Amino acid sequence: MKIDAIITGGTLLTMNPAYEVLEDCAILIKSGVIADIVPLKKAQKIGADKIIDAEDCLITPGFVNTHSHLPMTYLRGLADDLPLQRWLGEYIWPMEAKLANESFVYDASVHGAAEMIKNGITMTADMYFHSDETAKALKKAGMRALLSRVIINPKGDNIAEEIGFLDEMRELHGEDGLISWAIAPHAIYTCSGKIFEACFDYAKESGTILHTHLSETKKERDDCLDIQGLSPLFYLRKLGFEKAKCIFAHGVWLSDEEIELLKDTSSTVSICTQSNLKLTSGIAPLKALTEKGANFAFGTDGVASNNDLDILSEASFTSQLHKTINDDPQFMPARETLARLTIHGAKALGKEDIMGSIEIGKRADLLLINHRNLQSANMYDPYSHLIYAIGKEQISHVMVEGKLLLEEGRLTTLNEDSIIDRAEEYKTMILREIKDVDKK
Ligand SMILES: [Zn+2]
Repeated sequence: MKIDAIITGGTLLTMNPAYEVLEDCAILIKSGVIADIVPLKKAQKIGADKIIDAEDCLITPGFVNTHSHLPMTYLRGLADDLPLQRWLGEYIWPMEAKLANESFVYDASVHGAAEMIKNGITMTADMYFHSDETAKALKKAGMRALLSRVIINPKGDNIAEEIGFLDEMRELHGEDGLISWAIAPHAIYTCSGKIFEACFDYAKESGTILHTHLSETKKERDDCLDIQGLSPLFYLRKLGFEKAKCIFAHGVWLSDEEIELLKDTSSTVSICTQSNLKLTSGIAPLKALTEKGANFAFGTDGVASNNDLDILSEASFTSQLHKTINDDPQFMPARETLARLTIHGAKALGKEDIMGSIEIGKRADLLLINHRNLQSANMYDPYSHLIYAIGKEQISHVMVEGKLLLEEGRLTTLNEDSIIDRAEEYKTMILREIKDVDKK
């Protein structure tokens, strides 16, 4: 058997159902798939086009980001220190209406993809406008993604155009490759009940994932109780959410009864702690989600609210925050936090059969993380080091479907310098737009 690449040595955190940790072995990769995992000695006799030395490295599945808005890259730092409704209504939405055309979305998505790769993210679930441009950017980058064009339609009842768009995108970009598509009503406060009903029906009929924001703020929950007489997830149950597999971004204000309802479904809550804390939206009920067995995974949200794509530190911070607020140091141990970053994220995106763990037959989506430095020498427990000591700058290699997107810390598919230059050009343009707005 001709092998494309072999990764030799290192400490392999498989994240398989037995959570095996393997040493002195080699991963054989062929046609983007993990063809075999063999003892190191055996690998020395096998030839390959590419041999990657993983000595002093942890090898983990790629990190999965379950909620992002990639093209917000250029809006990072434009407006901070505000509550969500003012941040959205006074700054983000007016700026997007003025600026977010096709070329903006493409360029900002390339930037976001480069940043995600350097943060070890191999797949993201993204929601934005002109998402066909994001698809082009991610194809160039080589990342895996579940994309969606956001639907904002507070009065309408027809999603025929959205279905047409999704059909066209599947035709253009293929469903079985790196890019897949979700339907994405933005939130219950920006889409009518009829839109949600139609989206749930469509998701059920087509097997498409539905991606939306849910129960992000207290105001959203209280308004829903006032207007609908129901809390947000019970309102969505009335509209048919149980028909579909959903990603509910945030879930900060979910009640115990709503979590009880969620736990027997295939849906997932995407936890975006830093975005929620910065916008003072609140802290999601992770202990109740864990105890009731509802799936949750991590999301970065957009960088205009986070303000970075460092999902490893997001996970580490989240676990420590919830230990403290629950007065329970045993809550969210490091291995579970890594599982939320990998296999639970894969489940959220309906990809657990092909990624999320390092197993024979799965796609080779994985990371090499170098631990030979001062802050991560003396590695007693690799999970502990990864979650509590290691930083994203130690991620040296990122592979998606057997292809290296980051090698020895350098991007292979994108040019980092020209991406930074482009961002500076956009800054000049955006500042000009802001001055024009201020004059009016
Ligand atoms: Zn969001």
